[in-house]
Amino acid sequence: MSRDVDLFVIGAGSGGVRAARIASNYGAKVMIAEEYRVGGTCVIRGCVPKKLLVYASRFADEFEDAAGFGWTMPHPTFDWATLIANKDREIARLEAAYAANLERAKVEIVRARAVIADPNTIKLVASGDTVRAKHILIATGGTPSMGKDIDGHDHVISSNEAFHLTELPKRILIQGGGYIAVEFAGIFNGLGSDVTLVYRGDNILRGFDEDVRNHLRTELEKRGIKIVTKAIVEGVEKVDHGLCAMLSDHENVVVDKVMFATGRRPHVAGLGLEAAGVKLNEKGAIAVDEYSRTSVPHIYAVGDVTDRIALTPVAIREGHAFADTVFGGKPTRVDHRDVPTAVFSEPEVGVIGLTEAEACETLDKVDVYKTSFRPMKATLSGRDTRTFMKLLVDGDSNRVVGCHIVGPDAGEMIQLIGIAVKMRATKADFDATMAVHPTAAEELVTMREKAVSHVRRPAAAAAE
Ligand SMILES: Cc1cc2nc3c(=O)[nH]c(=O)nc-3n(C[C@H](O)[C@H](O)[C@H](O)COP(=O)(O)OP(=O)(O)OC[C@H]3O[C@@H](n4cnc5c(N)ncnc54)[C@H](O)[C@@H]3O)c2cc1C
Repeated sequence: MSRDVDLFVIGAGSGGVRAARIASNYGAKVMIAEEYRVGGTCVIRGCVPKKLLVYASRFADEFEDAAGFGWTMPHPTFDWATLIANKDREIARLEAAYAANLERAKVEIVRARAVIADPNTIKLVASGDTVRAKHILIATGGTPSMGKDIDGHDHVISSNEAFHLTELPKRILIQGGGYIAVEFAGIFNGLGSDVTLVYRGDNILRGFDEDVRNHLRTELEKRGIKIVTKAIVEGVEKVDHGLCAMLSDHENVVVDKVMFATGRRPHVAGLGLEAAGVKLNEKGAIAVDEYSRTSVPHIYAVGDVTDRIALTPVAIREGHAFADTVFGGKPTRVDHRDVPTAVFSEPEVGVIGLTEAEACETLDKVDVYKTSFRPMKATLSGRDTRTFMKLLVDGDSNRVVGCHIVGPDAGEMIQLIGIAVKMRATKADFDATMAVHPTAAEELVTMREKAVSHVRRPAAAAAE
């Protein structure tokens, strides 16, 4: 059987769903294929279930703080099976809502793996049916990259499986230093597991501001997470009471679960890209121009499979821009600069713009404002945690070029600071904004003392 459509979308995740709905609203005949579950990584095994587990894990602190405020309660106990069942019910509800939204927009959903047979033909793998498409959008996302093959790698799970464990591991080793690794370290630690984080670099959260990396590491260690840097897991062996992970620094760690969160790679394997003539870039992602067009003019790609910025809002924006460009007659580029982002570790991280090192590389004068304090909610319980905030200001234009927060609600704060930074607000604009008292966020508009000013020496002086 063969059918004709205006647009065939491969992958019903963040980018694909948005593109399909908007294109259909513009009048295009749209079909979307999904090989796993509608909603994609974010809804099914990424942002949403992760945040639910993060919420669960934070009750440990709430109970501790509550005692400081005079509450007494029997020793709280936690049931993993209840959490996972409730989480699964919510994810199923969201999956159904995504499918209903697509159907309401008159997008035809095909629950099958789809591959490209030739530049205008899609093959549905299970049935062998083909679909002819005027345009193809590749929105297949990414998959966990488990690194090089090691002995016992069958015993290792990724974040995909972590969402479906039948019981809470008493001891877990997580390899990785990126946001998914530190988020899961916080989840398991908060729920009561003994957590070891192993990372090959010298500090967690590579690419983030140095102060953020150091502050978060200290906070994680204060919470009892053991962080082993400059080491990797070289093998995993089943032993009597769990799994023994052999580290490159010759230490053995015995745990109940070993999880790798060592990055994600674009999901392109077996997709038929060669048959269509779609080229990859040097990172193995689909190469696209600023309109998300691939090397084949009527084939586009959005989201994680293009490895620009692997975040849900970015994939959604790219999918929307694609539909506007191709079916709405409004050529639209996505602005990938100054994207605010959060790490839902404990404590949380929110950042936008340049790190101090990046600011010093690109600007002649950089003024740094920073502060650290105990969050008010933890004062009565005496819980040992500190919030950190930092503003980076272009010393010439006075524009705020970076904001970095580690502390409760950092994700919520950075979403709003993002508007100011995007509007090119200056430090004077921040200073002119009245504080909201008593909040943590007020620190962002009341920092007056520069912690340091960096001035780039003129080339001649530097050469002397
Ligand atoms: C644990 C975790 C936590 C995360 N947390 C956050 C967060 O807090 N905030 C944030 O912004 N981002 C987060 N992300 C990233 C976010 O999930 C992704 O950036 C986003 O989902 C990318 O959307 P996408 O449309 O590119 O791909 P996806 O959402 O991955 O969707 C791709 C879909 O394509 C399907 N597919 C693949 N190949 C085929 C095929 N050949 N045929 C049919 N279907 C196919 C897949 O099954 C999948 O459903 C997280 C990711 C993970 C793994």
